[in-house]
Amino acid sequence: MVSVSYINPLSEEGKEIARELGDLNRILDENSQLIQAVIQSKHQEISDDSYIPKNYVDLAVKRIEWHVRKRNDPEYKSNKNRYSFLFNEGISKFDVVSFYLLCQAIGIKFGPNSRESKLMIESQGKIMEDRLEELPRYERKEIVGQILNNIIIDERIKWTFLEDLLSSRKINLMDLILSNGELILDKADFIKRFSDRIELRDPEKMYNLVIGERIKELIMIKMIMQETEDYISQVHDMSRNIEPHPSLIEIGDRISDVLQEQTQYYPRFEGEVTASTLNPNAFPPCIKLILEGVGSGKRNDAIVLILTSFLSYARLYPSIFSQNMTVKVSDADPDLKIIQNEILPLIYEAAGNCNPPLFDDQPQEKLNITAKLGFGLHETPNLKHEGESKWYTPMSCEKIKIHLSTLCKPDEACKKIGNPLSYYTRRMSEVKSKNKPKK
Ligand code: SF4
Repeated sequence: MVSVSYINPLSEEGKEIARELGDLNRILDENSQLIQAVIQSKHQEISDDSYIPKNYVDLAVKRIEWHVRKRNDPEYKSNKNRYSFLFNEGISKFDVVSFYLLCQAIGIKFGPNSRESKLMIESQGKIMEDRLEELPRYERKEIVGQILNNIIIDERIKWTFLEDLLSSRKINLMDLILSNGELILDKADFIKRFSDRIELRDPEKMYNLVIGERIKELIMIKMIMQETEDYISQVHDMSRNIEPHPSLIEIGDRISDVLQEQTQYYPRFEGEVTASTLNPNAFPPCIKLILEGVGSGKRNDAIVLILTSFLSYARLYPSIFSQNMTVKVSDADPDLKIIQNEILPLIYEAAGNCNPPLFDDQPQEKLNITAKLGFGLHETPNLKHEGESKWYTPMSCEKIKIHLSTLCKPDEACKKIGNPLSYYTRRMSEVKSKNKPKK
């Protein structure tokens, strides 16, 4: 069976390897064992010397480069054998060290809320997925079971154990099977709790259908991604009091170079709607209604809960639902100019259109708007308060229909979406493809 650290570098085994081999003064030294392991990887392309990482730092940078290329480079498929070594268990111990180096370099140089940190977490998720894909079925099942047993020590798992994953949208509550607030993963447990309620079907087959290995893998991967995020945060906090090692700064610089090169040469993936000036023609009917003003009783929720999150995400992070990441306003609007000059004026104008104007009798709602953007309860957003509250993602159509049903006047396009933001991104990508010059 493959080693646990090959999939989970944050395991005890992985930490032990990092302690043993991660001497920062030697990470730039040429490592003949690593070179041999890379060259011997199945299908590895060796036609160019630059495809072979020579030391831990090279390997760390290649790890990120693989992910960025796989995501953005249309030529990736024909060049993927340049990265075959990443799927050779023989590089495991070197890979673990490179994982820690990346987390430390990113934590120190860019911080936990940076684009680089998100890429690192995302790349760790993808590397685990692809490595599991390469394993024979029995081995895949065994290693996932072993890792989960190490992470989840308690036999009874309360759903609150996954609170961080749920709130950061790494996991959807709908994917989980719960009983009395407990997460059900084990087959015997599932059969014991549900078999008398399952009619005309084999409970074992039902287990394989609704839980099976898929959910276990999903939970394992997302938990390790969350731990990676936490580790980068810890490094960042600690780095305030410690002088960083120059090699870590070098890794940070090389990651910047990789990202710069990739964004320069490769477009974002086809169809993705990126941050751009708002297009009111693509707004869904409910948002158009709110902008015109809402009567008393519904004003507060319409402006503070629906409009604020919709406009901010539509302008700054329209693809949030497909990215599966936690983001902050400043990731897309570092000096908050867009929030101050484009988004807040629209929200305040809609608040003024309400009957009676929202802030006339409820000026405290300005504080709530700031809070829903992630800046805590303050009059206006300020970078020093960012993170005091959560940046709320737009409410689903289902919730709007339940709580503010009069605002939902669906049109044809509403049939295909579940959230006003998805309506907007869908319409925007239609506009984009219409305007695209024909080849
Ligand atoms: S279906 Fe959704 S997007 Fe369409 S009007 Fe209703 S709430 Fe808005």
